Amino acid sequence: MMKYSRQREMIYEQVMNFPIHPTADEVYYALKDENPNLSIGTVYRNLNLLSDMGRLMKINIANGKDRYDGRTDLHYHMTCTNCGRVFDVELDFEEEITKKILSNEGHTITGVTLNLSGICRSCSEHLAADSKEAI
Ligand SMILES: [Zn+2]
Ligand SMILES: [Zn+2]
Repeated sequence: MMKYSRQREMIYEQVMNFPIHPTADEVYYALKDENPNLSIGTVYRNLNLLSDMGRLMKINIANGKDRYDGRTDLHYHMTCTNCGRVFDVELDFEEEITKKILSNEGHTITGVTLNLSGICRSCSEHLAADSKEAI
């Protein structure tokens, strides 16, 4: 039992320290060298458990793998359509407006997910540099 909770903390720390919201695979590959007994199933199970506990947020990406976020406050995400990385978008979360709109329909809102897509800054710079070279 002790062993499992230690693995869970290690997985949690890995998500917290990862610069970009990792997938379960990325968490697994980052940890497996130092933890040869770790299995991908254990990583999945603990990531889902941590998100059920509210310690991590699971981000569902359309046409992509779920990602995990150490930040659990409401915030927006942008997925780069070029490199696939997921970024936090700093923007006041208009939760009240969403609630107002949807309560008119008789729904009760318990969570908000908004995923934007675009081209991240570093990809934009690379793409701009590439097109200059082409000329
Ligand atoms: Zn990108
Ligand atoms: Zn985030």
